[in-house]
Amino acid sequence: MNGQRVDVAGVAVATGHFINGTRVDSSHTFEDRSPLDWNLKLADVSRGDASDADAALRAALGAFPAWAAKSASERAIYLHRLADLIDANVDRLAAVECLDMAMLLESLQKRVIARGARNFRAYADLAVNYRARRWNSNGTHNAVLRMPAGPTVVITPWNAPFMLSTWKCAPALAAGNTVILKPAEWAPLSCSVLMDLVDEAGFPPGVFNLVQGIGEEVGAELVADHRVRRISFTGSPETGRAIGVAAARNLTPFTAELGGKGPFIVFADADLDAAAAKAAVMYDDAGQVCLAGTRLLVQGTVRDDFLARFEAATAAHVLGDSRDPSTTISPLIHPQHLARVEGFVERARAHGDHVVFGGERLRADGLWYRPTLIEPHSNDAEIVQHEVFGPVLTMQTFADEDEAVALANSTAYGLSAILYTSDQSRAERLGERLRAGTIWVNTFLVRDLTAPFGGTGISGIGREGGDYALDFYSDLKTLQVKEGTTHG
Ligand code: NAD
Repeated sequence: MNGQRVDVAGVAVATGHFINGTRVDSSHTFEDRSPLDWNLKLADVSRGDASDADAALRAALGAFPAWAAKSASERAIYLHRLADLIDANVDRLAAVECLDMAMLLESLQKRVIARGARNFRAYADLAVNYRARRWNSNGTHNAVLRMPAGPTVVITPWNAPFMLSTWKCAPALAAGNTVILKPAEWAPLSCSVLMDLVDEAGFPPGVFNLVQGIGEEVGAELVADHRVRRISFTGSPETGRAIGVAAARNLTPFTAELGGKGPFIVFADADLDAAAAKAAVMYDDAGQVCLAGTRLLVQGTVRDDFLARFEAATAAHVLGDSRDPSTTISPLIHPQHLARVEGFVERARAHGDHVVFGGERLRADGLWYRPTLIEPHSNDAEIVQHEVFGPVLTMQTFADEDEAVALANSTAYGLSAILYTSDQSRAERLGERLRAGTIWVNTFLVRDLTAPFGGTGISGIGREGGDYALDFYSDLKTLQVKEGTTHG
């Protein structure tokens, strides 16, 4: 029987795919457990295979001509309806995602889920307001036109499954593409609830599909299919490479938002209290945030002053159940991920890096890891050069601006950089010199959805956000009409 559901935090969550407007269950499943209590099995989720990938693609192909033929304003009606439904279901979505991936319930309720609604509204309105660039040159009237590209595969990670999925599906749909979403197998449930809302919003069957399953299985099937016209991926650089190879075989355009190892640079002229308080925020979500500034680079003259403040700010963190409002740090997503984080710290110790604080689990029977600070023996240390994706920061000092920039730009990543200084001209200078897709000065995570977003180096390929995303999900065309051509 298709359409199986399980109770998750009081919400009846479908455990199957959503293909062509219908719930479809696979005979094979994978287990989904809660990081809040690893003994708690939440669901046996459909484990998609090649036939599910094919069914979803056929649905997306079938629905494409009619969806693409609608005007941006007509499509916007569906996207706005979905946004309203997300807002009306914030508590249900938050409860499910909290149990599934352990993000703090309060963050989900107050910010993260609502951002999903914002994503749909922002892209719907941007697509409606698109004005083709028109100009005359070389004796022709020219215009840049956007044409919907076709079926789009969106593959997302577990660390903010709802927000990141809506961030990519919204522009694809607004641009006139049909979508197949494959969420991460470690946190697949909030995207399933989203599909109930897609259904309720009345999207035509096949426009917005969901396939559940393992990345190397159904994910790989989807990205290798020549019928796919766009691939949008968020996740690790390793998977990004594999998807890039698959996309290249069919010359399918793809964007990849990948890992980060951002610098958090503190100059002596900064408000040290504000800088230390914000640095302690890098432990939020147990450090499972791609944009976090995980390498603290502190001007040598204020190292001790900063460290004292940072230790005090970090000591205020409370590790606990993500549903408890007093908790500020959640458990890690999965025992395998906890072991990975532990491995980084153990190797750092073995190589002579100094663990200033933390460096251990909270307790043996849970997935919490204490906020950890490491002073590396060298800038080449693994703990400096590789993304840990856990509550582990490093701290190094620098003498002047040149050294700060050299250290900041010294990894293969380039997703984000955070800078604390009271000097506006220094902010502008470093803004020019830092190699990162987003640079925040005296703030963090403030986002204008019309701005370009992405990474350089192994942090990604391409840019999404605003018109950059709508351009990516479209085939851009130049129309050139000889001047003097008369109206028929
Ligand atoms: P991951 O790369 O392991 O998995 C991401 C997704 O890819 C999952 O849905 C997985 O099932 C799928 N997948 C795996 N192998 C695949 C294959 N061969 N073909 C198709 N799909 C495949 O990443 P993760 O562990 O889920 O997420 C953590 C990573 O994501 C970190 O590196 C983090 O920095 C990054 N991230 C980046 C951003 C950003 O905006 N740049 C945002 C969030 C997370």
